Amino acid sequence: MFWADELAARLSGPQVVNDSKTPSGTIHVGSLRGPVILDVIVRALRAHDLPTTLLYGIDDLDPMDAQAMLTPDATEQWMGVPLAHVPDPASDGHESYARHFAGQFIDTFAGLGIHPDRYYWMSEIYPTGQVDPLIRTALDRAELVREIYRRVSHVERPPGWLPIHVICPTCGRVGTTLSSDWNGETVAFECQPDLVTWATGCGSSGRVSPFGGAAKLPWNLEWAAQWSLFGVTVEPCGKDLATAGGSRDRSDAIAREVFERAPPLNVPYEFLNIRGQKMSSSRGRGAAAHEIAEVVPPEQLRLLFVRPRPNQAIEFDPDGSNAIPRLFDESDRLAAATAGRQVKGELPPDHERVFAASLVDPAADLEAVGSAYRPPFAHLALLLQVPGVDVPSQMAAEKGAALTAAEQDLLDERIAAARAWLDAYAPPEVRIEVQRDALPAAAGELDQAQRSALEGLADRLEGDVTWNGESLQGAIFSAATAAGIPKPRLFGAIYLAFLGRPNGPRAGWLLASLPPPFVVQRLRAAAGPDTLTA
Ligand SMILES: [Zn+2]
Ligand SMILES: [Zn+2]
Repeated sequence: MFWADELAARLSGPQVVNDSKTPSGTIHVGSLRGPVILDVIVRALRAHDLPTTLLYGIDDLDPMDAQAMLTPDATEQWMGVPLAHVPDPASDGHESYARHFAGQFIDTFAGLGIHPDRYYWMSEIYPTGQVDPLIRTALDRAELVREIYRRVSHVERPPGWLPIHVICPTCGRVGTTLSSDWNGETVAFECQPDLVTWATGCGSSGRVSPFGGAAKLPWNLEWAAQWSLFGVTVEPCGKDLATAGGSRDRSDAIAREVFERAPPLNVPYEFLNIRGQKMSSSRGRGAAAHEIAEVVPPEQLRLLFVRPRPNQAIEFDPDGSNAIPRLFDESDRLAAATAGRQVKGELPPDHERVFAASLVDPAADLEAVGSAYRPPFAHLALLLQVPGVDVPSQMAAEKGAALTAAEQDLLDERIAAARAWLDAYAPPEVRIEVQRDALPAAAGELDQAQRSALEGLADRLEGDVTWNGESLQGAIFSAATAAGIPKPRLFGAIYLAFLGRPNGPRAGWLLASLPPPFVVQRLRAAAGPDTLTA
């Protein structure tokens, strides 16, 4: 069974699915795994007739702790301050640092077909007073919280420690304050210069009421508080948080023992790894979620996360590789299988459900989408590099009929993706240039057997041949057999004659993208005068 259906089959009654994110900087493409998993779970629950709400939260009262994201003079001023109160470093109209980076991330959601029923910002939730009863409970049970930290995670908090971070009324930092002495109305706080290494408190102290947005709960309590506030029943989390004695265990215990509520069902998921986790490719294209989403269309990006089970790590290395074309090939294979065609290779269990989960529209007609004409990505990337090719009419010719409106849209999307891929990520060997003006000098390397095979191919192509990739590929095979040479040697000869290099894309499709008279003339030129008299 598809993993999301397995999960849905275990649940009953109304469900609230939640996730939240700290917007501490540019968000890596791997962080989309959570939201995509969330959406796929929500769709599966709804498909099983469970009324389901999807929530997505921004933990924007968390302190600024990513120094790399600030200019040196801004560091002193803003480190330790809630992300919602730090100015937008890009000065492009967002209210805050948090709004800028969270916006960049959640702006990709709609394009991916992820539509939370509600977004919430913790900087807006605290001032409403909704969290106050939970803050009171946490402070009343501070000793129990300390005991849970000790028991579950072996983390020792000093005697008198309180589970609350006051926002310093003097300097505005939340990461630097330590609180004590809860009297049922106020807490004592100190904004300490050396409480943390990454921010310097101002040294002020006093008493404040921790309610109404003047303070926030520490992360583990805030997480558990969200579950109580919103009635969360399912919340997947990354494996870094899901380790034994880790953050999730701590929050689960706090939910049960402090807030007296069962924690939501966890769906731990593995990371997506990019070689070296670097954010920027050799050609300056990054691995930020919003940048990858500009190159990889939603269906293929969803498939990247949907195809493996959540507990499987994903290796994705788009830079200088064919990782992106392979994603397209896999979605085309699943589309073909969904339409009932034979495909090569093993299919995942319930492959139609996997294909459906990769589509942006949860209500898409699978049969129609699966049977639409889908131009192979690598082939398209090749055609786009051959001057003078009318790609849409070439595609209609290869399909054997006019493209439908949906197929034309899919083609447009793929053309844009292929251009962006060639521009940003494609490996050097897929970049080609047909040498139109003259026979490349490298064709001098051709031996006599290759020359004869090229001559034989020219003869065949002058005959009655359908000018498309498949048919020309067949003609090349026949010419190699007739000349008695292995096929790869004839392919190599064609690449030398047209591209001036020993390798290239599928030769039949390469030739089909060029005008027939030019192809025949070039084949004869490469074959040379010797073969005419041989
Ligand atoms: Zn901005
Ligand atoms: Zn302060």
